[in-house]
Amino acid sequence: MRKIGITAPGLADIATRPLPRYVLVTGGAGFLGSHLCERLLQDGHRVICSDNFSTGRRSNVSHLMSNPDFSVIEQDVRDAYDADVSLIFNFASPASPPDYQRDPVGTLLTGVLGALHGLELARLHGATIVQSSTSEVYGDPLQHPQQETYCGNVNQIGPRGCYDEGKRCAETLLFDYHRKYRTDVKVGRIFNTYGPRMRLDDGRVVSNFIVQALTNQDITIYGDGMQTRSLCYVDDLIEAFIRFSNAGPDVIGPINLGNPVEIPVIELAKLVLELTNSRSRIIYMPAVIDDPKQRRPDIGLAREKLGWEPRVPLREGLSRTIGYFDGVLRSAKPAQPV
Ligand code: NAD
Ligand code: UDP
Repeated sequence: MRKIGITAPGLADIATRPLPRYVLVTGGAGFLGSHLCERLLQDGHRVICSDNFSTGRRSNVSHLMSNPDFSVIEQDVRDAYDADVSLIFNFASPASPPDYQRDPVGTLLTGVLGALHGLELARLHGATIVQSSTSEVYGDPLQHPQQETYCGNVNQIGPRGCYDEGKRCAETLLFDYHRKYRTDVKVGRIFNTYGPRMRLDDGRVVSNFIVQALTNQDITIYGDGMQTRSLCYVDDLIEAFIRFSNAGPDVIGPINLGNPVEIPVIELAKLVLELTNSRSRIIYMPAVIDDPKQRRPDIGLAREKLGWEPRVPLREGLSRTIGYFDGVLRSAKPAQPV
């Protein structure tokens, strides 16, 4: 089994000062994982970021590389590995529908084997494992808003099944390890989260609409635009995961983590147009198969167990994200002749 993570800069210190053991973030070079690595380092942890760089990028964490408490390892979570860690955040998985449908078998195996290998690591080292689960475990929900007790409405043979069922099976594994081996587990169900460091071309609604608006391309609505989502700004979500990981071992979840303010996709398109001052037109495209028609988290449990609720309003979060995408687009453009 491959042993990862204990790199020279950290080792030099171990003899002289008592240091916390390592925190492992799988998928740490992705959108959410990179923000999590950054926050963990700010909080004084020593962090190993592992990633297979399929949908993530080294550039997401390049600004952290000079920190001696940070290391990056190329590792696919579908392969078994070992690392001496006390806390694992399992964030490795493609998350955007076009990304996870590109290699559906790989996605399913990432969900299942990624959780299994993270759990084995946790069991071996007595570590806590925090799982990035998803609102997709509720499928196209018949209960609204969704509570953690709802078992969902997933089409296991549809094109989203590879992601949804991989994540559902991962939750099953976490709870089985908890019951059988008393492994310290935590399951957070993430609802649509957006912010800086999303890929411009990752295909999700916020990145698509902002890039389309900033480049005056048509805004693509799939279906009639009346389907809803509830959008959480990345900083709020990371705060929730930090609180969750610091909560006692009896706080296991699953806990919904997301922003309960719900918006139809068509209204989101109009808001992005307004905030970007764009000349883009709105166009309608065929609906996505099995697209959930409504999604809003009940966050009563997160409020009660973590004392957490989102703070960043949608307008504010979108403005910050627009600023980020604008910067990326400008730096990609060739300089204009003077
Ligand atoms: P992302 O695609 O930006 O990040 C995922 C990271 O995992 C990438 O760096 C990718 O290279 C890596 N990865 C993928 N497969 C891997 C594998 N087999 N081995 C190792 N690394 C692998 O997506 P994100 O939005 O940052 O999502 C992070 C996690 O949060 C995912 O597990 C996702 O399912 C979950 N999640 C995200 C959202 C959201 O709205 N952003 C919602 C629900 C759940
Ligand atoms: N969507 C859209 N246009 C786009 C991208 C997405 O209308 O260019 C819709 C999509 O059909 C879904 C919602 O926006 O109803 C959110 O899609 P996303 O891929 O961001 O995440 P999902 O919640 O479906 O995983």
